[in-house]
Amino acid sequence: MNKPLPHSDGAPSAVAEGALRITEIFYSLQGEARTVGLPTVFVRLTGCPLRCVYCDTAYAFSGGEMMPLSAILGQVAGYAPRYVTVTGGEPLAQPDCLPLLRQLCDAGYEVSLETSGALPVAEVDPRVVKVLDLKTPASEEAHRNDYGNIAHLTQRDQVKFVICDRADYEWARFKLDEYQLAAKVSDVLFSPSHGSLPGRDLAEWILADNLPVRMQLQLHKYLWNDEPGH
Ligand code: SF4
Repeated sequence: MNKPLPHSDGAPSAVAEGALRITEIFYSLQGEARTVGLPTVFVRLTGCPLRCVYCDTAYAFSGGEMMPLSAILGQVAGYAPRYVTVTGGEPLAQPDCLPLLRQLCDAGYEVSLETSGALPVAEVDPRVVKVLDLKTPASEEAHRNDYGNIAHLTQRDQVKFVICDRADYEWARFKLDEYQLAAKVSDVLFSPSHGSLPGRDLAEWILADNLPVRMQLQLHKYLWNDEPGH
């Protein structure tokens, strides 16, 4: 694995290189998606323009600390990870997310991006695995989905539906077919909304309809009860 760039020691270059407002950087097990269970550094960017009713990271809506990209890369390197996930909030709401993703890839990490699907992904470095949400009606943010993003997904990427009830499931099943998602990306993820839909119900619906999707439960909620920093 290549080493990240050394930390910049001058304020002018820090401005030139870009900076991001960061809520937290931590090392944990990936709780979901294709790399579930693998040790991963999470870089959680502050801020999100959405307000999903089930949001479990509202603490990332505000606050945080401005960090130059070199300082972020330096902190990530301290964990010597193989996998790095850039998440939020909505990470693409900050323009310097794009150079961060590129520099993390340049440093040799396997990089993924968790995004709400509401902001354009066209400029994301193609080496990044995009995990793109399609917001369901019960999230109350389905009107924010940017369906133009689907054209920019590849076999490296994943699409996630957080499903709150049977109506959400039917909606997700329709979108799966409408956009032929199973053929377009590596995994389509159906995740029961924690606390509102029993995982067993979702599992039985998927089996009854023989859907080409991967059901997932969020590992970190079982291990750490969704505490920040995990
Ligand atoms: S997009 Fe994600 S971070 Fe933003 S409100 Fe929805 S669940 Fe929360």
